[in-house]
Parts: sequence; structure tokens; C-alpha cells
Amino acid sequence: MEENRKCHKVVVSLSGGIDSSTVLALTLKGFHPKEILAVSFFYGSKHNQFENEAAKKIAEYYKVEWKLIFINNIFSFVKSHLMIDGGDVPEGHYTNKSMKQTVVPGRNLIFISILAAIASSYNANLIKLGVHAGDHAIYPDCRPEFIEAIQSVLSTGFDEKIEIKTPFLHNNKSQIIATGKELGVPYELTRTCYKNQETACGKCGSCVERLEAFAKNNIIDPIKYEE
Ligand SMILES: [Zn+2]
Repeated sequence: MEENRKCHKVVVSLSGGIDSSTVLALTLKGFHPKEILAVSFFYGSKHNQFENEAAKKIAEYYKVEWKLIFINNIFSFVKSHLMIDGGDVPEGHYTNKSMKQTVVPGRNLIFISILAAIASSYNANLIKLGVHAGDHAIYPDCRPEFIEAIQSVLSTGFDEKIEIKTPFLHNNKSQIIATGKELGVPYELTRTCYKNQETACGKCGSCVERLEAFAKNNIIDPIKYEE
């Protein structure tokens, strides 16, 4: 067990969506699968169980160790339409004002703190996340200034060096898919829809952004959508 822990070099935050799956594929360009630990969170969102299942399949596909961390109790105070007991997930474009209802306050801040603690425990000195330019408008803890600030916090909060890398910080989802296409990312295994249903709805902001990004790449999205 102890030996196994020592061989991880990088912790990848793997939600089971397009962005983090592409980050994992990119990471495998520079690391052996055994050096990578993929981490997913169960925090209580409507789509959480479906994205966790997707993350597990993607980790298996790439033969990397996968850990699911349960933090739904921590998030039980959160008021967001994304959460299981929140209001309906808004439909329409991702940039619509209504999408702000799906913001989960402090989610990335809390995720990064846990990822850093895991990295420290596993002797890894690198954390990788799939935050991207499309997140900046509504998620404050996905913006470049936040990533820069939290990097500074980690430098003082841990004795060892823990570096954060967000390779798609300035890219949009269609650019991420273009990269993923070259890397052969199995997008048929990914989960994006925010709704509490197995089959993607095709109408929520998250589905709409995904469909537009595939269309811009002239690729047909390989997942199933409800009629
Ligand atoms: Zn949807």
C-alpha cells in the first residue's frame, strides 16, 4: 500500500465530462498510467451519480487508479439548482443569466483543497483540472485570477511543492474537443447533462454548450440524447 502511494506523481480531477477527460488524455502524454491518480467527487448534484459512473469508465479506459470522494454532507448547506434538492435546471444557452442558478458556491475552492491534501498524502506534486474559458463568466473559482491566487495559497499551506495546472484555462469547449479528437478521447463515455436522468436532455445549458462545441468541430456527438 505504502509503495503504491509513493508512485503517484499527478492527481487529475476527473468529473466525467469532456474537459477533465481531455485533461486526463493530455496528462497521459507525459506520465505513465501508474503515475496518475484520477479523483472524482460525490457532492450531491442532480447529475452526480451519472458523471461519477462516466468518470469510473474513463479511468478504466485509460487504466489509471480512480478514487471517488464523498463530500455530499459538506455540500448539504448549498443552495443551487444543480443540487438534488434544488430547483429545476434551467434550459437554454450556457451564457444565459439563468445558468447562474446552477453555480455551486465554493465548489472548485473546496475541490482544490481536497485535491491538494490528497496530492500531499500521495507524494504527488501536481494537480490538474479541466477548468476552461467557458466557465469564467459564472464561476468565480474557475477564473485565471482565482487559479493564480489558490496556487499561492497552496504554496503557503503545504510544506511540499504542489503545483496546479489547468491546460485549458484560456480555451473554450470547442477547442478542447479539437484537442481531444487528436488524442482519441472516448467522448462516448463522458457525461455533461446537468439533469437528474440517465439520458442527456439536450436542452440544459450544459448540453447546449456541448452540442455547439461538437458542431463547431463538424463532429457528431457520440452520446445519446432524449427524443
Ligand atoms: Zn442536459
